[in-house]
Amino acid sequence: MKLKLNEFTKNTRKLVLYRGIHYYQQSREKLDKQSDKTYYYDVAGQENNYKVVVNLGEENMIVFSSCDCPYSAAGYCKHQVASFIDILHQQEDFDIKKLENADVMEEKTPEQPVPDGWSPADFQRLKDFDVAGYLATFSRDELIYVMLNYMQIDMKLFMYIFHHYMVEEARSNIRNFN
Ligand SMILES: [Zn+2]
Repeated sequence: MKLKLNEFTKNTRKLVLYRGIHYYQQSREKLDKQSDKTYYYDVAGQENNYKVVVNLGEENMIVFSSCDCPYSAAGYCKHQVASFIDILHQQEDFDIKKLENADVMEEKTPEQPVPDGWSPADFQRLKDFDVAGYLATFSRDELIYVMLNYMQIDMKLFMYIFHHYMVEEARSNIRNFN
């Protein structure tokens, strides 16, 4: 997607845009050096500092932009957003009201809470997968074996069962569930 600097929001998720504006307002971005139309920023994140490089071309097009933070979702990260705003401010093309209401990236699927270690794609696959049907292919003894093995890695499963099904009433609810 070829975008001018003042259109960067079109490749930015709404939440990331707000976080980037907030970073800018906290002056977390510092221009480290500039050579012609290439800008090098140091941005103070929550725990680490990140390096942002932005290269602009003809008519203020974003030719290249990168950040060394771990952000891996779609669009620009908040460190790049804070840096973009700083450049726009230098260019006197910055109006926070306009920015807050600018067109942002279309989200194909709304954000879903995903367990740690799962990518959004894993989560999507699981939703389309017949988990109950898959579990039913295991015998009772196989399931006990699998659960015991899992509990050696992570006690949470045991704690879950113990806490939720200690009471006989809770267990009879499972028996009635089909
Ligand atoms: Zn970043």
